[in-house]
Amino acid sequence: MTTEAQAFVKEIPSKAESFADWYTAVCLKAELADYSPIRGCMVIRPYGYALWEGIQRWLDERFKATGHVTAYFPLFVPESLLQKEAEHVEGFAPQVAWVTHGGDEELSERLAVRPTSEAIIMPMYAKWIQSYRDLPVLLLQWNSVVRWEKSTRLFLRTAEFLWHEGHTAHVTSDEADQECRTILEIYRQLLEDVLAIPVLVGKKPPSERFAGADNTYTLEALMPDSQAIQAGTSHFLGQRFARAFNVKFLDRDNTEKYVWTTSWAVSSRLIGSLVMAHGDDRGLGLPPRIAPIQVVIVPILGRDGERVLGAARALAERLGKVAHVRLDDRDEYTPGWKFNDWEMRGVPIRLEIGPRDVAARQTVLVKRPDGSKATVSLDGIEQTVAAALEDVQRTYFTRAKAFLDAHMVEAKTMADLEAAIRDRRGFVKTGWCQEQACEDAIRERTGASPRVIPLDDEPEETCLVCGRPATATVYYARAY
Ligand SMILES: [Zn+2]
Repeated sequence: MTTEAQAFVKEIPSKAESFADWYTAVCLKAELADYSPIRGCMVIRPYGYALWEGIQRWLDERFKATGHVTAYFPLFVPESLLQKEAEHVEGFAPQVAWVTHGGDEELSERLAVRPTSEAIIMPMYAKWIQSYRDLPVLLLQWNSVVRWEKSTRLFLRTAEFLWHEGHTAHVTSDEADQECRTILEIYRQLLEDVLAIPVLVGKKPPSERFAGADNTYTLEALMPDSQAIQAGTSHFLGQRFARAFNVKFLDRDNTEKYVWTTSWAVSSRLIGSLVMAHGDDRGLGLPPRIAPIQVVIVPILGRDGERVLGAARALAERLGKVAHVRLDDRDEYTPGWKFNDWEMRGVPIRLEIGPRDVAARQTVLVKRPDGSKATVSLDGIEQTVAAALEDVQRTYFTRAKAFLDAHMVEAKTMADLEAAIRDRRGFVKTGWCQEQACEDAIRERTGASPRVIPLDDEPEETCLVCGRPATATVYYARAY
């Protein structure tokens, strides 16, 4: 590493030694986000928002292709509506921000700033859905929600955060369950194929379900500090909300029935997962499929400045047809400073071009994940760069998958489990009899929570707390 590079990265703490400080420094230095004057609320800066737009664009295309449409519902939920589903209000009440006044006038009923929107959407469904012909309803909205968190961290936990929330209504239970699984698969593809973050897919145990859901499907990722992060959820709400809000339809057999509903979401916390999963001591690492800038071209001007700049511009124009390209022709910075700056921002591919490269019709291609350098011909550069981007995408996923695979352990006894959690060995697999008392005992002893029960679960073990036969396999971890 050059002296210049050392000076540049010394402001970022070591990822291995102080993970939490490293994380915050990367978010701030890469200009993804900043603290705001409002406690617990962050500002998402343009480079961070570009990542969110990338997630939105990718998901929006899949949602529309699977028949979903986008709408928008109010920010406020009257208290009386929030209270209609008992478990739902109990789950969210401690975190609700309330509006009590309009101007100087006290409101006759408090308004919740939405912590989630079931309670404002269901009354509309009651109005719109009359017959089986009105179903399914496949709506989502892109919005923010507010949950008054006591301690907060950039992207991972903030009082206000961005997400989408899907809310669908169906004729049958099976159809609603299928909807949950369709969305779960879209989320899995987003995580693994775009963000290069491998996930465990399955169901939450009852204690971890969304407040008011009959079943919560989840995707769980493991971060480099061995803490799990919930990457997305898809809730089978059964008929609970339909009953609470009286959403009924006249079926083909001429009888009135309650609809079956689902809700699902991923949030801007995914950006935090992305930072943690792929960054290193030089800064951010972005998989090409989500990187706002995929290729940066840094001209090394030397004596023949104009000629090099001309060649760099021509190269940027050619590559602009196959990738998101930035030509860094700022003259106030040295090439070395620019290399470090773009590495810190996680740009997957850097192309360096100097006078000798121009003469030889070549460029130096540097890959962000390992800093590997290769001199490549300008002939067919479009194909070369496209292949290099695919390679970087694969590298990030392969690395993250190898980490996950190396951090899946099994515990046969409580002592095993305690040690595995304490030593940060990752997801710890256990057998469970499905008694709440046994889960509670594990939580108390280890500080870990049950993250996921695999979809195709075939438990063979015994419950490590009580010794009775296990009826579920559970993966435990400490979690964000
Ligand atoms: Zn048990």
